[in-house]
Amino acid sequence: MTNTMTIRRPKFTTHADGTDAYLTIHEITGSQPGPTVGISAAIHGNEPTGTEIILELFRMLPTLPIKGKLVLLPVANPRAYAVNHRFTPIDELNLNREFPGDPKGNYTQQLAAAITREFLEVIDVHLDFHSGTDRPTVDYIYIWNDEALSRSFGSKVLYRPVQTREGTTFSGTTKVVTLDRRNIPVVVVELGGGIVDQKPYVQRGIAGLLNMLRQLKVIDGDVVPPPKQVVVPAIKTIRPTQAGILETLAPPLGEVIRKGQLLGRVVSPYTFEVLEEIPTPYDEGIMILSHLSRNLVESGDYGYMVGDMNGAQP
Ligand SMILES: [Zn+2]
Repeated sequence: MTNTMTIRRPKFTTHADGTDAYLTIHEITGSQPGPTVGISAAIHGNEPTGTEIILELFRMLPTLPIKGKLVLLPVANPRAYAVNHRFTPIDELNLNREFPGDPKGNYTQQLAAAITREFLEVIDVHLDFHSGTDRPTVDYIYIWNDEALSRSFGSKVLYRPVQTREGTTFSGTTKVVTLDRRNIPVVVVELGGGIVDQKPYVQRGIAGLLNMLRQLKVIDGDVVPPPKQVVVPAIKTIRPTQAGILETLAPPLGEVIRKGQLLGRVVSPYTFEVLEEIPTPYDEGIMILSHLSRNLVESGDYGYMVGDMNGAQP
């Protein structure tokens, strides 16, 4: 009744410092049949919370019998992760805009092609963990093509992107392989980040991940019903147009913010002037991404994300 745990490191190119470029993939095979579930994190190198969630899962697996197989890719972009950077430092590209990748392309396209070949094309379900960075904190789940699975993670706010005839604006993300090409169930988790203790987010992350694995019948046990949830049809990302200290005035994540309220303001750390006041974009919105401490921002950084409660569903 025990799992077989292996690690493999497919090489996809070399680095100028003489080291090999490879993915690190764990494969955990249960003694009973079931789906192959791929779990990935840190596709953006400065979103480390998901890697910690996968670490917690990994530590449970010697005594947690599974049905089927788990394929873990804890650090999808190692060079970016190593320097806490969103993009690959070698070519400054966003890995999650380069899928399905190109084995004869630039470095990030080669990395994307390796992830496509070694991970995205061998799994039956994809659970992808994103987070805030070392400044903003985020808390929502995408609904792509398996609403029950998305809901079972247990987050309060869910986002169902509006599909257009041309598809969505998410071109070059992993979903060009998982959704558009293969149509396997996909859940994208956005949880954690910020200059706050990550422990509560990691605990929520592992609880939600285990519940998704129960929903998929990969592990035994009853699925814990989700809390009261809201599904928003649109999200606006608001970026400060001025640099300085961003002071948040918005309510906590998951709470409602109404027209006339300020999300926050940018204050000069030099003159102490208020450089910008940032209004909320919707008549009634719900907080999805915020700065939970006073953070220094550049103009154009991630400031806030607000979901539109107009047209929201329970
Ligand atoms: Zn991300």
